[in-house]
Amino acid sequence: MDRMSIGAFARASRLSPKALRLYDELGLLTPAYVDPHTGYRFYEPAQLERALLVAWLRRLGMPLARIREVCALDGPRAAREVGAYWARVEAETDARRDLAAFLVDHLAGQGRKDTAVADTTNRAGAAPLAIRYAALTDAGRVRERNQDAVHADGRLLAVADGFGPRGERAAREAVAALTRVDAAGAAAGGVLNLLEDAVAEAGRALRGPGGDAGASGGGGDHGTTLTAMLWTGSQLALVHIGDSRAYLLRGGELFQITHDHTMVQSMVDEGRLTPEEAASHPQRSLLVRALGAAPDASAPELRLHDALAGDRFLLCSDGLSSVVDAESLRRALTAAQTPEDAVRDLVALANASGGPDNIAAVVADLTLGADL
Ligand code: MG
Repeated sequence: MDRMSIGAFARASRLSPKALRLYDELGLLTPAYVDPHTGYRFYEPAQLERALLVAWLRRLGMPLARIREVCALDGPRAAREVGAYWARVEAETDARRDLAAFLVDHLAGQGRKDTAVADTTNRAGAAPLAIRYAALTDAGRVRERNQDAVHADGRLLAVADGFGPRGERAAREAVAALTRVDAAGAAAGGVLNLLEDAVAEAGRALRGPGGDAGASGGGGDHGTTLTAMLWTGSQLALVHIGDSRAYLLRGGELFQITHDHTMVQSMVDEGRLTPEEAASHPQRSLLVRALGAAPDASAPELRLHDALAGDRFLLCSDGLSSVVDAESLRRALTAAQTPEDAVRDLVALANASGGPDNIAAVVADLTLGADL
């Protein structure tokens, strides 16, 4: 078959002649022949496959330098590279979605505060909320060691699920980093910044001086999840990374208020898996974000959460949520009289389901009055 002119090749590949000239200059797609007199570029029909790949990768938003790398790989390695690129895009989108959700909450909250000041008979006169809490962790029935960590006091609730050879220490240190946050006097939004700084610092400490010894989807050796809430006196500042979870029991209904940073959850978000398939997926614990992972895979979700009298919050590791379904969690949380009863019952439920993993549970109740 004859060589194709740049115009014919552009039409067949759906790339513009201008783009083809650029890709030639970048070494992405070199013409088979350039007329030395006219400078016209000519292409072999066999080059169409490469041109189509470049066009598709451009539609994916992949930068040209990375496209050049993908084009140099064989099929399976190119496939892995595209998969890795997309996982990163999703992680970045997740972080932006969290920020957008926070801003929506934050700005809407400012509106509510203005109203409360004007309406002194309503919110401004509300009694302060007190917090009652309990925390429990258990190795479960299979694992010899417990790499989960819990913390609860009148200010901070936290669970962490360490993994890898130094996972136990990673989980404890992540929680300890949050206990050192001094949020006294900080505005609500400022509390989130303090939490973010503490988590970033803990992540750097876990990665060590080399900076890349971390964990998770990157195949590193240790790290931890971290899901925590800091009580500001009127709201809960939530920080979350990994697949531990926070739930809210309000009005008899249970809401999961964190998003799992796992590969299967990304696939559910994309519509490639149903939530039911994800729950039994063999790779369901594969994290796309964790503390101790590379910096671009260790950004926490940060959010302020409203609190009302009567709210009951649960923070737990996947040793509970992956073996006890949401309806059973809801029933146990509804039935338990006190946070102490709740954490004991939940740990018992996980163990009754085989206890295949370490179990961590923190339960906190928000009540009227500051006398507790
Ligand atoms: Mg676990």
